[in-house]
Amino acid sequence: MKAGTVRIDGERLWQRHMDMAKIGGTPKGGVNRLALTEEDIVAHRTIADWAKARGFGVYLDDMGNMFVRRDGTDPTLAPAMSGSHSDTQPTGGRFDGISGVLAAFEALEAIDDAGIETRRPIECAIWNNEEGARFTPGVMGSAVYCGKSDLQTMLAGTDADGISMGSCVAALKAALPDAQPRALGTPVAGFIELHIEQGPLLEATGNVIGVVTGMQGNRRFFVDVVGEDAHSGTTPLSRRKDAFVAATDMARALRDLFHDPEDVLRFTIGRFEVSPGAVVVVPGRVFFTVDFRNPSADVLKRLGDQVEAVCRKHAGPCEVTVREPSNAAPIDFPDTMLDAIERSADAHGYPKMRIYSGAGHDARYMHTMCPTGMVFVPCERGLSHNEAENAEPEHLAAGTQVICDVLLEMAERP
Ligand SMILES: [Zn+2]
Repeated sequence: MKAGTVRIDGERLWQRHMDMAKIGGTPKGGVNRLALTEEDIVAHRTIADWAKARGFGVYLDDMGNMFVRRDGTDPTLAPAMSGSHSDTQPTGGRFDGISGVLAAFEALEAIDDAGIETRRPIECAIWNNEEGARFTPGVMGSAVYCGKSDLQTMLAGTDADGISMGSCVAALKAALPDAQPRALGTPVAGFIELHIEQGPLLEATGNVIGVVTGMQGNRRFFVDVVGEDAHSGTTPLSRRKDAFVAATDMARALRDLFHDPEDVLRFTIGRFEVSPGAVVVVPGRVFFTVDFRNPSADVLKRLGDQVEAVCRKHAGPCEVTVREPSNAAPIDFPDTMLDAIERSADAHGYPKMRIYSGAGHDARYMHTMCPTGMVFVPCERGLSHNEAENAEPEHLAAGTQVICDVLLEMAERP
């Protein structure tokens, strides 16, 4: 089927964005819709209602992932799928995540309006708890769906108030009594996700479509520095085991280790906790985190493997323990997906560029299951995870048109 056979409705797409932005909308114009809160469940219910009005099927799995399905002519075939997440950060915006869901839903509607029968079913996915703001870790729904995380462990996780993910998924199921069950790991023929770029490149270069080549890998480290609490007035510096002094030396040395003149490498110490945190006590303990990202597996290995040694070297009289809670390899999306995205962008004359993703997305896990790709659209000043997050209606429409074209192509693949 030729790209652009089905035209998406940009106005309807924008209206849906504005409708969804009201669910958990903040006074500053952002969105606070943490995973499976009352607001997020209303968002799911709203999309399920839109689906019902169209005659689309609604499915729910045990991890709280929801799927809207437009049937194909061959019910034995795995679906072509697009989608993203509906949850946000506490001071999130109107586009991160939900744009990918609404792009997929608009594609289903546009294909339905055109009365086109596809060979494979086409589905819109809403992955549960992508942000990881209420429940950790993030990107949970797609990880469990793809068999990369354990369902029971994730359902047992609790938020800051002690509410379990399991009880939230039960609440979602109760709000969607009409949804049919979907087994985790049910095969998918191909997955494509639209997302705002969350970075400044597309805007700066005047491009509308980011053809995402892959995702950078990341390694995270938890560093525990243990010294000894002591009186700040009486303990000579020479006798102290000052965990803060040791930890700041480590931080300084890590900055040197991760220095990158090309500014490709991402290195962040996002948490730095000093204990006991009293004005007159030499700190006996510091905990800090290291988040390190790079598109090259070699760089990730070479530099990441030095973190522990660098920390030990600068521990002074203190003890240091380094743990690595996550290590995700960089991924490359297949050329077939990049080509399909570029063909569509060219057919419509959308300026495009190849770009890699600095952030993690559900596509990371779908990539382990089926041919996967991503489309980025510009967002104002690259701002995201921010109430001021903004995107242009015509850019969202262009990205959604590409999603629609690629879905149609995937739906005919053998
Ligand atoms: Zn997102």
